[in-house]
Amino acid sequence: MARPALVLKNIRQDYGQGESLLHVLKGASFTMKPGEMVALVAPSGTGKSTLLQIAGLLEHPTAGEVIINGRNAADLTDDERTALRRNDIGFVYQFHHLLPEFSALENIMLPQLIAGLSRNDAKERAEQMLDYLKIAHRGEHRPAELSGGEQQRVAIARAVANAPSLLLADEPTGNLDPGTAGYVFEALEALVRQSGLAALIATHNLDLAGRMDRRVTLQDGLVVAA
Ligand code: ADP
Ligand code: MG
Repeated sequence: MARPALVLKNIRQDYGQGESLLHVLKGASFTMKPGEMVALVAPSGTGKSTLLQIAGLLEHPTAGEVIINGRNAADLTDDERTALRRNDIGFVYQFHHLLPEFSALENIMLPQLIAGLSRNDAKERAEQMLDYLKIAHRGEHRPAELSGGEQQRVAIARAVANAPSLLLADEPTGNLDPGTAGYVFEALEALVRQSGLAALIATHNLDLAGRMDRRVTLQDGLVVAA
């Protein structure tokens, strides 16, 4: 079997302390194969964002193991974790989080420049991505000049610009009207299918969830099949 893109083993996450201690995750385990698209569908407050932040090495769990492409995060130095996050993981959020003072093109170039690509190579790749997402003509515009659907497509392009193997998306279409959500998801799906990256996508949209390879939910702090 191919090496999993993501393994979560017995993840526990507690917030607060003393009497107000909140057990959000209580030993959640979950494995994703390369190229797999999985919907994470669960009610608000059940820990979807927490799980994604932990899987993306943005938060340390109270206990448990996170293994990305065979590398156990617990064995890494802070610098190695940062490098793994930058190179292997892409994030998309409900709100685009693009840098307002930069153009769409520059927003997609930035992670590549940080990863050490030349300006020309980064620009070429960013242009290809915009073209692929059918917004080539919007490259010079700043985020505020783009529609919600265009902003999210730029955010998706930025997330996958460094060719990560794992994409984590936290309600990426949650802020869009149904029609726009549909075509933004199609763009995301096409990218995932074409590049073979594994994608874990939290969504409340059952229609979109139905188009993914499988669905999981969070129940009493555990990941279970939906
Ligand atoms: P979801 O994304 O499914 O809506 P979250 O992961 O955001 O759920 O939150 C799960 C629970 O953990 C909620 O009760 C939330 O209030 C709590 N929580 C999340 N992050 C923190 C934090 N940094 N400190 C304290 N409580 C938190
Ligand atoms: Mg959330």
